[in-house]
Amino acid sequence: MELTVLSGKGGTGKTTVAMALSQLAGETVMADCDVDAPNLYLFFDGEDIRKERFSAMKKAVIDTWRCTHCGRCEAVCRFGAITGGKVDVYRCEGCGACTLVCPESAAAMRDEKTADAYVTRTQNGYLTRAEMEIGSDGSGKLVTLLRENAKEVAAAGSLIITDGSPGIGCPVISSITASDIVLIVTEPTQSGFDDFVRVAALCAHFGISALACVNKYDINEGVAERIEDYCRRHDIAVVGRIPYDDTVMRSVNDLKPITDYPQSTANRAIRQMWENVKAYINK
Ligand code: SF4
Ligand code: SF4
Repeated sequence: MELTVLSGKGGTGKTTVAMALSQLAGETVMADCDVDAPNLYLFFDGEDIRKERFSAMKKAVIDTWRCTHCGRCEAVCRFGAITGGKVDVYRCEGCGACTLVCPESAAAMRDEKTADAYVTRTQNGYLTRAEMEIGSDGSGKLVTLLRENAKEVAAAGSLIITDGSPGIGCPVISSITASDIVLIVTEPTQSGFDDFVRVAALCAHFGISALACVNKYDINEGVAERIEDYCRRHDIAVVGRIPYDDTVMRSVNDLKPITDYPQSTANRAIRQMWENVKAYINK
């Protein structure tokens, strides 16, 4: 069973919620698919049990021994990535045009490392995650790898909680396809509502059941009510309403899950939400 936690944009409390649910669920596997800003590993004293090189694209390389400096590759490159027979890897888009025009077969394409992918054993199960190379973008292929690694280490019948990327781009689509259920975390602002609608539409497009959680619902109860009204009309169950609570920021600064703070009102609301979520994942 895989539960994917999403939000339309960053900063809505998605990771706080995903982290808390993993604590409440007991032994779980977490997949940190927020690959451009991974941070779940900060909350664990973990041991990396696997590290693998990940390459999402190819970049051009030029063999200086063969190159005659004819300039054809520089002229054909639409991205200005070649100057004086040298490739700027940050500009190269991997189109391969330079290899087609080179009369000396000096230009070739080579796999470019974009990330290291890890499987980390934690005190609470396993965590799959990635560390991107500087200047690299997260990709759907990398998210797919992290989800496959999570499935590989998950014991039969155990829950996988995937912390997805914000937005609705390629990594998000890779986070939800074949997910069993998605929990969308939103906040009651106009932009939060708009982003929520986009993610809900994405789930509907792929035929994946969506649940909703309104974080900090009490900072703008009017918009919170509009989000809930949208959910009622689109058959999305609102499983959580989390009040604004300063303790959440304290827990992030302490690098501890919010479930470690018994007096926290957000903690109590998330515990109630977990009871609601369980009813859906046990269906
Ligand atoms: S692969 Fe394309 S983008 Fe990269 S250097 Fe060659 S022509 Fe330019
Ligand atoms: S086209 Fe080939 S030979 Fe000409 S400058 Fe580029 S790499 Fe060198």
